[in-house]
Amino acid sequence: MPHVVTQSCIGDGSCVYSCPVNCIQPTPDDPGFEHADMLHIDPATCMDCGACVAACPVDAIKSHLRLESEEREFAAINALYHRAASPRPILAPVRPRLVVRDRGEELRVAIVGSGPAAMYAAEEVLTIPAAHVTVYERLLHPYGLVRSGVAPDHRRTRRVSRHLDRIRADRRLTMRLGVEVGRDVTHDELFADHHAVIYGVGAASDRPLEVPGAELEGVVSATRLVGWYNGHPDHADLAPGLAGSRAVVIGNGNVALDVARMLTLDPDVLEDTEISPAALTALRRSAITEVIVAARRGPERSAFTLPELVGLTATPGVTVGVPSEDLGVVTDGDPKLEHLARLGEPPVSGRRVTLRYHLRPERLTGTQRVEAVEFACAAGGVERVTADLVVSATGYRGKPVAGLPFDEGTGTIPNVEGRVVDPATGAPVPGTYVVGWAKRGPSGFIGTNRRCSQDTVATLVDDYNEGMLSGSAVGALVRG
Ligand SMILES: Cc1cc2nc3c(=O)[nH]c(=O)nc-3n(C[C@H](O)[C@H](O)[C@H](O)COP(=O)(O)OP(=O)(O)OC[C@H]3O[C@@H](n4cnc5c(N)ncnc54)[C@H](O)[C@@H]3O)c2cc1C
Repeated sequence: MPHVVTQSCIGDGSCVYSCPVNCIQPTPDDPGFEHADMLHIDPATCMDCGACVAACPVDAIKSHLRLESEEREFAAINALYHRAASPRPILAPVRPRLVVRDRGEELRVAIVGSGPAAMYAAEEVLTIPAAHVTVYERLLHPYGLVRSGVAPDHRRTRRVSRHLDRIRADRRLTMRLGVEVGRDVTHDELFADHHAVIYGVGAASDRPLEVPGAELEGVVSATRLVGWYNGHPDHADLAPGLAGSRAVVIGNGNVALDVARMLTLDPDVLEDTEISPAALTALRRSAITEVIVAARRGPERSAFTLPELVGLTATPGVTVGVPSEDLGVVTDGDPKLEHLARLGEPPVSGRRVTLRYHLRPERLTGTQRVEAVEFACAAGGVERVTADLVVSATGYRGKPVAGLPFDEGTGTIPNVEGRVVDPATGAPVPGTYVVGWAKRGPSGFIGTNRRCSQDTVATLVDDYNEGMLSGSAVGALVRG
C-alpha cells in the first residue's frame, strides 16, 4: 500500500530527497514548487519503503492503511496530482554542496530573525565547516510564525520546531534573544563584526482594511487575532469582542480559514496546546457560533489551499457550507471546486462556517461598535451582513527595518537573488542579504522558505568567494 502526504505538509522537500524512486512531487526544483498546495506521493510508483516518513519533520506522511477517516481524502488528492504531473527523472535533482574558498578564517554571519527562513539560512551556512552564525531575535522566544502564526490545534505542523531546535543546537550557532536589530543594535554594528548580515524578519504587519468604519470597536486584523491566541507579546492586550454570535472574516486565504476554525471549534480541543491561556479562557466564554468567510472573487479564485479546506471541513462539531448561488456551476476536474460543491447549503444553527463569494466590502457600520458589513455584490446592489466581530484577513505585510531599504509597494526588502539592493541605483548594499517573507512577500509554507534561504546563502557564498565580503571590519567589536 502506498504512503500518503496529509494536511500538515510544510513543503520543506525533506521527503523528496529521501525517496529512492523519486515519487514525490513537486520537487524543490520544479517551477511550481513555490506555489504548490502540498507535496504528493505517486501511488503507482511508491514502493512503501517508509523513508519519507522518517524524513518528514512534521509527521505528515502516513501509510495508506493508517489514515484516519478525515484524512482519507488525501489519498485521492495525492493520486490526482500525479495523473496530471509531468514525467520525472529516476532520482530527484540534488543541490550541489556549497564550495567555499579557504581564506584561513572563520566565515562569520549574523542572521536577523529566528523564523523558519532565518533558521533554514543558518542550517545552510552551517554546512560550511569553518562558519559561525549569530541569530538575533527581537522576542524572548524563537521561531517566528511557527510559534506565533501556525494555529495551536495544528500540532503536527508545529512539530517543525523540533527540527529548528536541532539547527539551534549546533555549537557554532549563538542565539541572542530579546535583541531587536535597528533598535538595540544597528545594522552597521552587526556588519562591523560579521562578513555578512542576512535579514529574515518576516512580514509582521497587515494590509489595512481601507473602508469607512474600519476603525470601529469590534474590528480586528487577523495578524493581531492570530498573535493574541498564540501569545505574541505585541498582541497580548487584545480583547476581541466575543460576546455576540456572528463573526465575519474578510478575505479567504488559509489564515482566514484558521481564524474561522479557531473561533468555532470546541475549545476543549485546544487544551494542552500552546495557545495563550488568556485566549483559551476567552474562547471558552465566547458566544460566537457562526463565522462567515467573505471573498471578493468567485470560488474558482479561492485563496485557501485544498488541504486547509479539507482540514476545516473535518473539524469535529463544526459544519461548513456554501450557498449554491455563490458557488455557481462547478467544472469537473478541479478538486477544490468539487470539494466546495460537496459541502452543501450552510446550516442555520450550531457551530458553523459559511463560505461566501463575490462580496466586496464597502463599509462597516455601527454606533458604539461594529454592527454590520455592507458588501457590494457581483450582481449589483448591496448586501448587509450583521456582525458582532469583524476580522480582516487580507494579507500580511513587511515592516521597514531601520538602516535598510524598503519597498513600500511590495512591503519587502528590495533584493536581487537575495542580495539587498538600493532601489534608487540598483547597487547591492555590501554584505547584506534577505530571506523568507521579507524577500518574497507573505506567501508559501514553512518549508518553502528552505529553498529560498538556500538560494540566498548560495549568493552570499559566491560573493565571499569573489572577495566581495572582505571581513576587514570583522572583530572590530567586542564579542559577547
Ligand atoms: C497565521 C499563519 C498561519 C500559518 N500556518 C502555516 C501552516 O500551518 N503551515 C505552514 O507550512 N505554513 C504556515 N504559515 C506560513 C509560515 O508561517 C511562513 O511561511 C513562515 O513563518 C515565514 O517565515 P519567515 O522566517 O520569513 O518569517 P517569520 O516566521 O515571521 O519570522 C520572522 C522573525 O523575525 C523576527 N524579527 C522581526 N524583526 C526583527 C528585528 N528587527 N530584529 C530581530 N528580530 C526580528 C520576528 O520576531 C520573527 O521571529 C502560516 C502563516 C501565518 C501568518
